[in-house]
Amino acid sequence: KGDPRLEAISAAIRVVPNFPKKGIMFQDITTLLLDHKAFKHTIDIFVDRYKDMQISVVAGVEARGFMFGPSIALAIGAKFVLCVNLANYQSYELEYGHDRLEMHVDAVEPLERVIIIDDLVATGGTLSAAISLMESQGAEVVECACVIGLPEVKGQHKLKGKPLYVLVEPS
Ligand code: AMP
Repeated sequence: KGDPRLEAISAAIRVVPNFPKKGIMFQDITTLLLDHKAFKHTIDIFVDRYKDMQISVVAGVEARGFMFGPSIALAIGAKFVLCVNLANYQSYELEYGHDRLEMHVDAVEPLERVIIIDDLVATGGTLSAAISLMESQGAEVVECACVIGLPEVKGQHKLKGKPLYVLVEPS
């Protein structure tokens, strides 16, 4: 708070009312990706926070966690792991719930220190699924990180006690 970079980040996020359905204020980070300075501020803040925390895995949540995770991973000397939603790869029948995430079984080793990144936390259901996935491999989730936190939904309570770090909250 009080960091002018955060204001630049907030300003670069486009808010689309009533998308994808009525009542949702969609936070569109594609405009943040178009703004080189604001995008760089976003990565820099996460890198400063995590560079000395012995993190060996940055786990990105499909799909918009994929836009931020790799740059952070490269800068802090960690590997980048994809947490995918198999529902996106099945053209019919939702065999997998939307809160179910998967990764390659050999992507993460037991006891590795992980941060999980996504663009936005709302209910926390998505991040909880990512935490479960990492813990299923015996990895330690150090923190969840999001560019945007929707304050009214209180996703923190769902994150199995893991800390949550968000850069901006929509006003
Ligand atoms: P949740 O699991 O409820 O915390 O929802 C977070 C996931 O849904 C993230 O992967 C977001 O990309 C997406 N999401 C939920 N609400 C919004 C919103 N208002 N604007 C943009 N993305 C959203």
